[in-house]
Amino acid sequence: MSERPVCAFLWLIWLFLTSFLWRCLFAVLWCCQYTPNPNSTLCPTLHDREPQKAVGGEGRVHRVMESTLTARDRVGVQDFVLLENYTSEAAFIENLRRRFGEKLIYTYIGSVLVSVNPYKDLEIYSKAHMERYRGVSFYEISPHIYAVSDNTYRAMRTERRDQCILISGESGAGKTEASKKILQYYATTCPVTDHMSTIRDRLLQSNPVLEAFGNAKTLRNDNSSRFGKYMDVQFDFRGAPIGGHILNYLLEKSRVVHQNHGERNFHIFYQLLEGGEQDQLSKLGLERNAQKYHYLVKVCVCVCGCCPRVSSINDKSDWKTVRKALTVIGFHEEEVEDLLNIIASVLHLGNTQFGEGEDGETQITTEPQLTYLSKMIGPLSFEQAVAARDALAKAVYGRAFTWLVAKINQSLAFKDEVYNSSKGSSSVIGLLDIYGFEVFQHNSFEQFCINYCNEKLQQLFIKLTLKSEQEEYEAEGITWEPVKYFDNKIICDLVEEKHKGFISILDEECLRPGEPSDISFLEKLEDTLGGHAHFVTHKLANGKTRKAVGREEFRLIHYAGEVNYTVNGELANQSVICQSDNQILSQCFNREEVTTQKRPETAATQFKNSLAKLIEILMSKEPSYVRCIKPNDAKQSGRFDEALVRHQVKYLGLMENLRVRRAGFAYRRRYEAFLQRYKSLCPGTWPNWQGRLADGVATLVQHLGYKPEEYKLGKTKIFIRFPKTLFTTEDALEAR
Ligand code: ADP
Ligand code: MG
Repeated sequence: MSERPVCAFLWLIWLFLTSFLWRCLFAVLWCCQYTPNPNSTLCPTLHDREPQKAVGGEGRVHRVMESTLTARDRVGVQDFVLLENYTSEAAFIENLRRRFGEKLIYTYIGSVLVSVNPYKDLEIYSKAHMERYRGVSFYEISPHIYAVSDNTYRAMRTERRDQCILISGESGAGKTEASKKILQYYATTCPVTDHMSTIRDRLLQSNPVLEAFGNAKTLRNDNSSRFGKYMDVQFDFRGAPIGGHILNYLLEKSRVVHQNHGERNFHIFYQLLEGGEQDQLSKLGLERNAQKYHYLVKVCVCVCGCCPRVSSINDKSDWKTVRKALTVIGFHEEEVEDLLNIIASVLHLGNTQFGEGEDGETQITTEPQLTYLSKMIGPLSFEQAVAARDALAKAVYGRAFTWLVAKINQSLAFKDEVYNSSKGSSSVIGLLDIYGFEVFQHNSFEQFCINYCNEKLQQLFIKLTLKSEQEEYEAEGITWEPVKYFDNKIICDLVEEKHKGFISILDEECLRPGEPSDISFLEKLEDTLGGHAHFVTHKLANGKTRKAVGREEFRLIHYAGEVNYTVNGELANQSVICQSDNQILSQCFNREEVTTQKRPETAATQFKNSLAKLIEILMSKEPSYVRCIKPNDAKQSGRFDEALVRHQVKYLGLMENLRVRRAGFAYRRRYEAFLQRYKSLCPGTWPNWQGRLADGVATLVQHLGYKPEEYKLGKTKIFIRFPKTLFTTEDALEAR
């Protein structure tokens, strides 16, 4: 009697132990199956964790360990295509907000990277982080600017196709920082030899130089780029950087002579005054005091008792950086001196004051070194003299900037004789850091150019994104319904069509004999474009007046929204300086250029032509996109102003971007990656599928109960239409 309970007890223990051992064995086997292989990149992650957790040491990718539901709720989805309610702008912004709150500033829309400026240094840009992103595919690791950099680089190397990364967003959104981070990624992770390290250093050092001459403190950004920049980085067949080339667009020259309240002139002026050696300043006739120069302090009267110093900027140490950078890039001492002479001459020009002579003529009342100007300025009225002086200062500075870019390009130029091993087999990655769509209270010619540029880039985006989406479906043998989208070609045509487009009308008005007149320009616009669906003036068809558009305004209905532009002299004054016969200006401009019989081009036409060239360059490359968003206007970390973000989501066209991306299939994954992740959910594919990968995936999804309308099997990938399908599968995996 007493033995039976003991036996039963022992039997129970044995049962417990064996089942426990089996469980352990099973768990070990299961773990082995998922033990990350350092070289394997087959574990997709749908939701972010902290970047440190997302990837293990040594760049290994770990399996998602936390509940996907919890992660999804807390940090949102790392790819907007996985949003259930993808047409909802509110859901989109909520996802951005959640992620921003978790310091996850990057999110994808497919392969487009959306980045929100954190306004503080996050520890996600170290060398170790760069290493983690090396050779790892997009979806297998948290979204990051390095993921875009790396994928672009690998695409260039494996497909031997030129690439470009288009970075857009409004001022202060983080475009320039993003482009610098991409460049740093390449400088750190690409192979280099001694020769190449020179080029690599020059590529990096071109940034502080261009920023000194082309950036300034504005209300929106303490280091605002006042020019658009496209930079090609050239790589040899081993993937090492061997050269570069920069194109610059629309430098804001007006800043040389005038800045808005609370803004500054270009950094270089303050850097030179703060950091330049005393004898150097004496030679240039300058004093170490920015307050002495009209172009630097004229309108900068802040409540704080204005001094041209900005807390986030150290002009003195920046000067040292720039001086060193000029040497690294290969500027000779004389060239640096020439450059500084130009900077000094602009400051002297600004201090040139005018008075009235005995016979009522305008005279220069300051420094005798400028008396030669007096003779030329003599016949001018006071206002004309001031305008001529400012025009000269702007022209001189603009020319100096162009020269600087040309000089940097010379130093970055790929020299075949040095790298003869790379002959004929180089590829290029282009970086475009260009202003996003702009709408202010008053919008002038500058905003017109910027927004026109964005229309062109949107055209390019439509063509390339839809094209590549369609190409992938074709390559995989998948049928799909083309998506309806707004094609903004109609607006591009409105601006640039021959004879009847906006720019043609502007050209006509500027180049006809006599003074260009704003009123007649507006009338001509009305005559030619009135009735166009995207052009509006204050006149209504019934003869009444539309209040929302002023009498000196016209409205363009852009793809991203409506903008009223003011024609207050600026537009009509776009006839280029070379049209002028003013002798002062001819000292700055090539005489041939001034006296050429060729019909001069207006600034608008020049811009149109340079934009056409840029689009041509970009079209020849495979594009990637980075869309930058500014979370608040106060440059503060941790603040997410929903209204401001909504505005940018709209103007960047992100909802449309998402719609296009979602119109086909929300999610696509190579067969081997899909099987590897989910095979444990089906006895037929567990532990290993031996047959064709496509058959394995078919067996798996059949077992999971996918309905035919939920997915399609291509040649190498499974395409899943709705995120819900994937989430259910993910949840099943987590519940095991
Ligand atoms: P944009 O070129 O779009 O006008 P910037 O790239 O100059 O804007 O960014 C403005 C400022 O925002 C930078 O000077 C920097 O202080 C901050 N910032 C931008 N991106 C980041 C980032 N990824 N991490 C930390 N700070 C950033
Ligand atoms: Mg910038």
